[in-house]
Amino acid sequence: MRENPLLKARKEHYAIGAFNVNTFDEMVAIADAAAQVKLPVMLMASMSSAKFFTPSVFADLVHTLDRSYPIDIIAHLDHCTDPELLLTCAREGFDSVMYDGSHTPYQDNVRVTGELAAQCHSLGVLIEGELGIIAGEEGPVKSKFSEFTDPDCAGDFIEKTGIDSLAVSIGNQHGFYKGEPKLQFELLEELCGICTAPLVLHGGTGIPGSDIARAIRMGICKVNVGTEIRAAYARGILDYAGQHADDADVRKFVTYLRSRIQETAGRYMECFLGKEDIQ
Ligand SMILES: [Zn+2]
Repeated sequence: MRENPLLKARKEHYAIGAFNVNTFDEMVAIADAAAQVKLPVMLMASMSSAKFFTPSVFADLVHTLDRSYPIDIIAHLDHCTDPELLLTCAREGFDSVMYDGSHTPYQDNVRVTGELAAQCHSLGVLIEGELGIIAGEEGPVKSKFSEFTDPDCAGDFIEKTGIDSLAVSIGNQHGFYKGEPKLQFELLEELCGICTAPLVLHGGTGIPGSDIARAIRMGICKVNVGTEIRAAYARGILDYAGQHADDADVRKFVTYLRSRIQETAGRYMECFLGKEDIQ
């Protein structure tokens, strides 16, 4: 099986950025941003994005970029609630997948995540699980409320399932935050002390850079960002079209879009270095 890149990140106190993408241009822009800070990066497909590209095309595009860039670029499936699709992605070349059983009863989450982990590992694919409920909406998974990750269950969950990383709910949310996000650093500290698997922070959009950097220094090894990439993409299209309505030069248009996405992803990546002086 491929080495878990999150273990190296944890040891060296940085995080791997994991960005949701729906087009090849987002992939290129994010790869460019990652190459600038010399960090590995994960390009993530939601379930609908995996179907939109088809799993093999998504994985092949990521692997093509991985061969062309001096950094590791990893194909990851985000928040999958469908075991069949998850295993298809694992067989068709994804390096890493997430099974999200967080909305199911604890024992069911343990059983299904554990079964999928065994199958993924036999294919050489890494798997992320989730415990606790993250408020907001991400693909098929939505919740109006948060349920923080229970530290009494976290160690047991990791041990019984054999997952390679665990997504935690510590005040983070999907989508844009209403009001200032408040991460529960005491809970994170407790979870870091208990969990043998690297921890993942979802809902990176809108969390202050200083809080992200602090969470990374404490032990977060992967940070997911989706909403702000989608927003940068949509705003880029509207801005460019508003100013160049008659310009049919597609490459100029795409170059502009890529630069907007690269700039947005780049701001997050500076935080992923986990340094003290991020504002
Ligand atoms: Zn998420």
